[in-house]
Amino acid sequence: MEITKENRKWLDDMNLSHPIVIAGPCSAETEDQVMKTAHLLKNTDANVYRAGIWKPRTRPGGFEGVGEIGLPWLKRVKEETGMLVTTEVGNANHVELALKHGIDILWIGARTTVNPFVVQEIADALKGVDIPVLVKNPVNPDLPLWLGAVERFQAAGISQLGVIHRGFSTYNSLHYRNKPKWHLAIELQKEFPNLPLIIDPSHICGRRDTLLDVSQTALDLNYDGFMVETHIDPDNAWSDAKQQITPAQLAQMTSDLKIRLKSSSKEEFQRKLMMYRKELDLLDSNLIDLLKDRMGISEQIGRLKHNENVAILQSGRWADILATIGEDAEEKGLSREFIEEIFKAIHVESINIQHNVK
Ligand code: PEP
Ligand code: MN
Repeated sequence: MEITKENRKWLDDMNLSHPIVIAGPCSAETEDQVMKTAHLLKNTDANVYRAGIWKPRTRPGGFEGVGEIGLPWLKRVKEETGMLVTTEVGNANHVELALKHGIDILWIGARTTVNPFVVQEIADALKGVDIPVLVKNPVNPDLPLWLGAVERFQAAGISQLGVIHRGFSTYNSLHYRNKPKWHLAIELQKEFPNLPLIIDPSHICGRRDTLLDVSQTALDLNYDGFMVETHIDPDNAWSDAKQQITPAQLAQMTSDLKIRLKSSSKEEFQRKLMMYRKELDLLDSNLIDLLKDRMGISEQIGRLKHNENVAILQSGRWADILATIGEDAEEKGLSREFIEEIFKAIHVESINIQHNVK
């Protein structure tokens, strides 16, 4: 299936200039909270107002959203501020109610994208209605699952599409609530270059102090916009209190962000860019040569161990390598985490090669 420029025309039709700023509370709590937040957001760069009406909670007992009574509040937001409004739909009934109350854009939550049955049910409920749908990435880093959800909406006749990168759940992640996988989103862009791509730094960070940094990375990678959870009184929010910011903080954030040009036609810029790219290509080719040599040695070690009937994995040796390369990397100003990731992949391949030695 192909996503064409037509599939992003809705951004222009809805006057969503770059970057799109979707802001509003994690959850609609009360009419007063929804309206006060919206009126403050009106004076920022926000052009779409978000609020969760139905909240998918990982464990029961948390606030599960106000439900249908909150939908007229969003209609009021639209009438009084002129912002477009969006909410999450998680089943066919939500779709019916959201459409009945004039919601402009729908989004599919991360816990929904993982389930093709539910995605199909929502897509079927949308047959005959062409409303923009933004598909969040599934909780697990599975690109075909993410693409598959987009394709189900496209097949159901939805032409106005977009995706949201909200990070991926990992066990015991220290820095992020949901780790961003920048490369996976780049793969998605490779497959569907015309699909609008939005970052949700709130669910990636799970805290306030790193939102700017993650948003800037996304802008540098050509994202089309942001979805940022914004609340009039973040500390007392009924859900996701730790990651929400006030409308004033959002305004500060968007003014601190450096908006990059897609490209530049300046001759000097193009010349330098080409030179650096050539240099990178050469270094990449050297890296491959080095890896080839390294794997050749692994094979010899494999043969040696095979002949002596010695086990392949020597965990003491691997711990030593990790410690040494980590220190070496830090001394040279590279991040330990980055180098460790690379060496883990090298180690796995090296073990595979040793396994295959006959
Ligand atoms: C949300 O946007 O409030 C939400 C529940 O997001 P996600 O589906 O990314 O967890
Ligand atoms: Mn939330």
